[in-house]
Amino acid sequence: MPNPAPPFWELKPLSALAPEEWEGLCDGCGKCCLLRLEDEDTAEIHYTNVVCGYYDQDAGLCTDYPNRSRNRPDCVTLTPAVLSGEVHWLPASCAYRRLAEGAPLPPWHPLLSGDPESPLWTGHSIRGRAVPEAEADDLEHHLTDWGFEP
Ligand code: SF4
Repeated sequence: MPNPAPPFWELKPLSALAPEEWEGLCDGCGKCCLLRLEDEDTAEIHYTNVVCGYYDQDAGLCTDYPNRSRNRPDCVTLTPAVLSGEVHWLPASCAYRRLAEGAPLPPWHPLLSGDPESPLWTGHSIRGRAVPEAEADDLEHHLTDWGFEP
């Protein structure tokens, strides 16, 4: 019996993905919607447990996804060009970052598990545990070491 064809994310470069394939890479973890601080000296990224005010924690979605970069100029729209640059600011588990760095998808990714809720039940979603931006105080009080590794 012939081996099955590799999945699209192994077969094609990011720049060749169809729009639905591109969107399907997002596991919906929401980690990139957390506010983060960057060390001015080392450029190290520190995540907080505070989530952007446009993020709906019940649905696990941005409430204004098409306008996200207009609403929040610091919300970067991921493209192959963006991913060809420096992506250390994305969580280490992020599928886009991993593929851009030549790494496989994390084992709990919905494209592998077949379950869109797998990031939630494996502890890789921010849903239900992030602090809404409107309720947060100084971001330095909200630094978190939540697992960002795959
Ligand atoms: S960190 Fe990556 S996989 Fe997770 S929600 Fe953001 S873009 Fe999607």
